[in-house]
Amino acid sequence: MATTQTGSSATAPEQLPHHKVKIKKPGQRSCNEKDAKGKFCGGHLKRWSYTSDIVEQACGDVEKAWGPNAEVYRCEHCKTLYLPNPEEAGGLNVAGPGQTSVFGLTLPPKEK
Ligand SMILES: [Zn+2]
Repeated sequence: MATTQTGSSATAPEQLPHHKVKIKKPGQRSCNEKDAKGKFCGGHLKRWSYTSDIVEQACGDVEKAWGPNAEVYRCEHCKTLYLPNPEEAGGLNVAGPGQTSVFGLTLPPKEK
C-alpha cells in the first residue's frame, strides 16, 4: 500500500485502518481530497451515521476509535472521513461563535 505523506499538514488526525481521515476546515462543505491526477474531488461532505451503516458496522473502525456518537462527516464521492474542526464549535452556527458585542463597553487598547 503506497501512501504519499506530504507532511505539510499541521493537524494530522489519527488514521483508521480502513478509512482515510481528515480534519474539516471551518465552514468547509466539500471535499478537498485530490485524486491521482491532482484534481479536487469536490464531493459533498455529509454527516455520517456510521452506527446505522451496515457496511461500517461490519468494519467497526470508526466506532472503535471514536465511540458511537462522534460527529463525523463523509465525502459522498470518495468516502474520505472528515472530523469537525475544533475551531468550529457546534457546527450549526454558520456565522461563527464568539461574536462579542463591544456596545457599551470600554475596551482597553491592546498594545504589546
Ligand atoms: Zn471526496
